[in-house]
Amino acid sequence: MADKHQTHSASEELLQAIAAEAEVFWANPDYTTFEEAMKKSSYTLEDVKDAEARLQRFASFIRVAFPETEANKGIIGSKISRIPNMKEFVEKRYQQEIVGELYLKRDDTLPIAGTIKARGAIYEVLKHAETLALEHGLLKSTEEDYVVFANEEFRNFFAKHHIAVGTTGNLGISVGTMGAKLGFNVTVHVSVDAKQWKKDFLRSKGVEVIEHKTNFSKAVEQGRAESEANPNSYFVDDEHSEDLFLGYTVGGLRMKRQLEEEGIQVDADHPLFVYLPCGIGGSPGGITFGMKQAFGDHVHCFFAEPTKMPSMLLGLMTHKYDDISVDDVGIHGLTVADGLAVPRTSGLVAKLMEPFFSGGYTVQEDEFKALLKALHETEGIFLEPAALAGLSGAARLFRTQAGQQYMEAQNVADKMANATHIAWATGGSMVPKTDQEAFLKEGAEALAQSDTH
Ligand SMILES: *Cc1c(COP(=O)(O)O)cnc(C)c1O
Repeated sequence: MADKHQTHSASEELLQAIAAEAEVFWANPDYTTFEEAMKKSSYTLEDVKDAEARLQRFASFIRVAFPETEANKGIIGSKISRIPNMKEFVEKRYQQEIVGELYLKRDDTLPIAGTIKARGAIYEVLKHAETLALEHGLLKSTEEDYVVFANEEFRNFFAKHHIAVGTTGNLGISVGTMGAKLGFNVTVHVSVDAKQWKKDFLRSKGVEVIEHKTNFSKAVEQGRAESEANPNSYFVDDEHSEDLFLGYTVGGLRMKRQLEEEGIQVDADHPLFVYLPCGIGGSPGGITFGMKQAFGDHVHCFFAEPTKMPSMLLGLMTHKYDDISVDDVGIHGLTVADGLAVPRTSGLVAKLMEPFFSGGYTVQEDEFKALLKALHETEGIFLEPAALAGLSGAARLFRTQAGQQYMEAQNVADKMANATHIAWATGGSMVPKTDQEAFLKEGAEALAQSDTH
């Protein structure tokens, strides 16, 4: 009884802190072993491998259509970098030693779209194109060389079809760029958060951009309604799409080979901690699912959200999933991390990922800015604000009681000297110079206001 009461008041307290827009770190009480979690999952390793095989089939087309992918043979991937100087900065700022190595996963440099969306969204567009091509006999079988997707005949065929999407910007860039390249008519419904350069970029690709003066959830709703009214239109649905999710899982699975190549060990004595910026949940969810397939109980995945948009955190904590929005706890307003500006999480992802996510935490507005400036200064890497959310994860794990208890409970507290921490950088390379400079200036101001956090 006493315990139960305590748990209840602890989560009440946490909810109050979230509503007050304070930074919180949360260990997920529903997190369980990989074996148990998989029993509840509607997806398996086979689904991830199926998605991986599809991307492999399309590699010959991607290579031709996007020459920047030539070096990687048409596979959309990124490297990981050690960031020792940033680690030192974070340790000083948070007055907390980070035990283990800190790496940055460079999805900010992904070809074609420059954000993590390139993994999920491009996959979904390709799968849709493959389905149509098979149905209409343009493609005889999946054994054919997919370089044919670059042919005029395919482009003319896809020009009779429509793809629509609702987005804060980045999803639209991935869907729009790949959709337009294949020849589709693409309409992107953007929310009020979308940056001007993202809209300009899309229009330059021949994509129709419809601006909504509403938040992300509403823009998606309106986009979906318009798309459904057109039988020739396919809607890339950030809230409900299985294909989007499966596209992201491939990125997680591929980490196995990458870490092996880098000589990074992951096993019972060498735990791996991953910190993933979270908007609607598809990318952190999919990556986590894929990484779990690769590393099972040895990988610990935390999602990171703005204090102004803690939608996954609220959904999981309350078990209300997509039945609760940040507005319901009195949080309103914009975040500088536009890629994470999602007031209501994906029910599909939240329910599926409940036993797989180790936990989550929130990041204040000024902290996004300060970390952005610091990473640029210490490592010469520019990221867009959303992509910084993972950078404080390791420090937060060590310095919070919830984090310490998590490491004890998972029997890794005494193994952290061998640990690897990966902050997943989710975007940045496409941000125009003038926007970069404005962010760096704001970051310098945020840094000047506080030496420690
Ligand atoms: C979309 C996005 C995320 C989060 O992905 P979700 O699938 O929305 O959770 C993180 N960072 C950037 C830069 C993004 O564009």
